[in-house]
Amino acid sequence: MNEHERFIARRGRSKATDPAASFRADAVFTDENDHNPWVFVRCPSCDGRGQICEHRGPGVEALRECETCHRTGVALSVERYFQNDDPPRDATEFIPDWVRCPACGSAFSIRDKVAWTGRRHNDRGGTRGICGQRLNVHRAPPA
Ligand SMILES: [Zn+2]
Ligand SMILES: [Zn+2]
Repeated sequence: MNEHERFIARRGRSKATDPAASFRADAVFTDENDHNPWVFVRCPSCDGRGQICEHRGPGVEALRECETCHRTGVALSVERYFQNDDPPRDATEFIPDWVRCPACGSAFSIRDKVAWTGRRHNDRGGTRGICGQRLNVHRAPPA
């Protein structure tokens, strides 16, 4: 086991002073973590892929293991899934189930389990990064 694998094993367990972390893809949003769990920081060398694509000649490309993270895709540190710690903002349905996030301007369905954690706007697209805004969603009164 290399140092990255040891780090993952250690941080995968829960302790108040040494927060349990998961891979981003495995993040679980709960009331206890305020829908903002600890996750492993992506390896900056391979952007979390664990492998690096190499040109080895015209039309020849090969994948090699990222030596920075030993293929684990993570750096030896943890961070919160979202960097957004702003207080909750209001969002009101403009059509049933759909709201527009006042922080980033994107519209999304509150039935979309990817875009909406149940507390935070989880927008992965665009150049803004991940929004993470806490929202108080108000259902529109029936017409
Ligand atoms: Zn890497
Ligand atoms: Zn947003």
